[in-house]
Amino acid sequence: MTIVVFGSINLDLVVEVPHLPVRGETVVGNRFFSATGGKAANQAVAVAKLGVPVYSIGRVGSDNFGKVLLENLQKAGVDTRGVTIDPDTHSGVASIVIDEYGDNAIACAAGANNLVREQELSDFQALLPQAKVILMELGIPLATVMEALKRAQDSNCTIILDPAPVKSKLPDEIYQMVDIITPNEIEASQLVGFTVDGITTARQAAFFLHQMGAKTVIITLGSQGAFCSTGEESYWVRPIPVKAIDTVAAGDAFNGALAVALAEGKSLKEAIQWGNVAGALTVTKRGAQSSLPHKESFLQLLA
Ligand code: ADP
Repeated sequence: MTIVVFGSINLDLVVEVPHLPVRGETVVGNRFFSATGGKAANQAVAVAKLGVPVYSIGRVGSDNFGKVLLENLQKAGVDTRGVTIDPDTHSGVASIVIDEYGDNAIACAAGANNLVREQELSDFQALLPQAKVILMELGIPLATVMEALKRAQDSNCTIILDPAPVKSKLPDEIYQMVDIITPNEIEASQLVGFTVDGITTARQAAFFLHQMGAKTVIITLGSQGAFCSTGEESYWVRPIPVKAIDTVAAGDAFNGALAVALAEGKSLKEAIQWGNVAGALTVTKRGAQSSLPHKESFLQLLA
């Protein structure tokens, strides 16, 4: 049983600030740190930390950042044979500010992630026969995502798409090509064109996304847990109450745990509960991958 995570690998450069800057404003913070990140890399580490075999497919630059990123994935237990080192560009970088409430704003320079193409697609295709769940996101070229989804259609894998960062308009076909789409509130709002900020609007958004062709919709609602609609039934899955310190990577923890549960044959509802547990544990610690839960703490809270 293997999970394949296809997408972006970044280095996060994080500044903690008293409040998020508005346009043109310089906010002076007290603390800086760098952390390995990128949505797909985070999700791969989330899976590995829960003790399940996982492959990462993506690209880093041949700079120092790339070395750090690759070694870090390997140290976490992620199989990186599908990660290409590009000699001609820099690794992906995300510049993150976090305020004292744990809210964040993020700007990325995609670098090598933008060059994820044929090489990665053939690595991906070679892994399909052993994959049980595929996690995709949009931090790499949309054309590559579409081609990967096309190649995965005849496999028996469950395909999960985290539609982040949201592109201005997603191709209509993408919705039918994935089994589960997992936007957070902001991404759901961007996809449907109205504000999603709780269960009622999540229900409306899910209805809209089903009309676009989506099969199962899971909208993560931060401290409010998650809302799921399969088209036949819909339900809210309660959050695990915790004190949030840093919300970076909560969605990645959620997706990783969701994928692990589904790969282990759990029901969809149970898999969302696993996602909520992983997300809750992640927000109680600072950082991206370093805050993702290990199997022991995860199982403790799940019990
Ligand atoms: P993203 O990180 O993509 O913005 P969310 O903020 O929706 O995603 O968080 C993903 C999941 O993490 C939520 O569905 C929830 O289960 C969990 N989570 C996030 N924030 C909190 C919080 N403050 N308290 C408890 N659980 C949380």
